Amino acid sequence: MPLSIMIMVFTMSEELKCSICGSKDVIALIEGKYYCFKCGSKIVERHVLKQLEELERRGIIALEEGEIES
Ligand SMILES: [Zn+2]
Repeated sequence: MPLSIMIMVFTMSEELKCSICGSKDVIALIEGKYYCFKCGSKIVERHVLKQLEELERRGIIALEEGEIES
């Protein structure tokens, strides 16, 4: 049984790699892909910004700190 446990751990750790930099320090699963803290926070930041921009475009929210584009 120890062998199968080892294989399981190996398989799991192989799956848990940051899909950008390959770091095994994975902390986030975003849209089915794993990311380490560094890459994950960038993705989330971009994702949130995109969503905020989209909401602003629809007139749902107003970004107070955003530049007003004409
Ligand atoms: Zn990464």
